[in-house]
Amino acid sequence: MPFAEAIERRLTRKICMKCYARNSINATKCRKCGYTGLRVKSKERKSAK
Ligand SMILES: [Zn+2]
Repeated sequence: MPFAEAIERRLTRKICMKCYARNSINATKCRKCGYTGLRVKSKERKSAK
């Protein structure tokens, strides 16, 4: 069951810093407004153990 993988995919998104649209991790620019200022929404939830 690729559950962990699904979660990881969900956590690796790029957020447009202009319109805050969610883009895929592979996106180089916002699919909505075309802005290139994307930042990875990373929740470093890798447990310390
Ligand atoms: Zn945008």
